[in-house]
Amino acid sequence: MARDLRAGYDRQVIVNQLPGSRVPYFMKSGHGPRSLFAGHVVTRLARAEDTGGLFDAAIWAAGRGAELPLHRHTKSNQAVMVLAGQLDLNLEGRTYRLGPFDFASIPAGTLHGHRAHGHHTRFLEWTTGGDGGKLPEALGVITEFCGIPAEIEALTANQQVCAASLDTAFENGAASDAPHVSTVPPAGATPYILESGEGERLIAGDQQFTFLAHQGNTGGEFISLTTRGPKGDRIPRHFHEKHTECFFCLEGAMTMWAFDEEIALGPGDFLHVPAGTIHAYRLDAPSNNFMGILAPGLFEPFFRALCDPYPGYDFPAKPWPFRFDRVIAKLPELDLRLVEGPPQR
Ligand code: FE
Repeated sequence: MARDLRAGYDRQVIVNQLPGSRVPYFMKSGHGPRSLFAGHVVTRLARAEDTGGLFDAAIWAAGRGAELPLHRHTKSNQAVMVLAGQLDLNLEGRTYRLGPFDFASIPAGTLHGHRAHGHHTRFLEWTTGGDGGKLPEALGVITEFCGIPAEIEALTANQQVCAASLDTAFENGAASDAPHVSTVPPAGATPYILESGEGERLIAGDQQFTFLAHQGNTGGEFISLTTRGPKGDRIPRHFHEKHTECFFCLEGAMTMWAFDEEIALGPGDFLHVPAGTIHAYRLDAPSNNFMGILAPGLFEPFFRALCDPYPGYDFPAKPWPFRFDRVIAKLPELDLRLVEGPPQR
């Protein structure tokens, strides 16, 4: 059937379903197809076919004891942000207990596995570069159930064998003491953990940005950062020609615009904004925190132009300088197309 572009068919944001092609879409918290896999309920937020092959994303939920044994991916780079409960994550044979908003970067080749410790553990998993994020659908079973499984169900030997076709090799290995813990992303693609609030902290105006993953940590496949701020003004409407932005609300409330649609985001809500989509956001609650995941990871120079280093861990009591002048000076080099004037601050 022909699409009527005048009616804006191609400019609608799809809501609560995966689109199957690279278009803007919004997943309200808890929505998405689910799989029961190794004692976890995994809710899919993004598949390669929804993102132009840039990434997979899912929310994993499990009760105490559910685990994924030690394994490696050859090509898949992964990142994990714990949302609730406690997750014992093993990296290269050492276990670390992660709580809410703790972050882990798991580049391709890293030996890793996890066991849920909290009775209501949930985490966001992000995968680029390979099929490692496809395990739950490929090896699990479709489920309508959206809670925490009552029984611990271990990964079967057959599932472990089948995983080999999905860039995933399970192996034997023992957990031991704590893994490497950093306060800023290290140079290069090595595994690391950032406790909640840690990362490279920057400031611009009344918003505080924390880099969780630089482009150098992900082979340029993505960058990730949190944005904290008070209730504020809408940022200028703009679009990007080369990179996709994803917004995942962690705390507070925000309004987003994608094309001409207005979308309210609360904690757990996810908005996918592919290249070419005019968009903007506004923070609405007294205190807000959202995670941005940008793929490919080429937009880091924008934040370096806009922001200054910052010693604090939250938005400031009084706004800092807002160096949009530096952004304008570098605009030809940045993947940023403004469709309205810069903010007056
Ligand atoms: Fe943007």
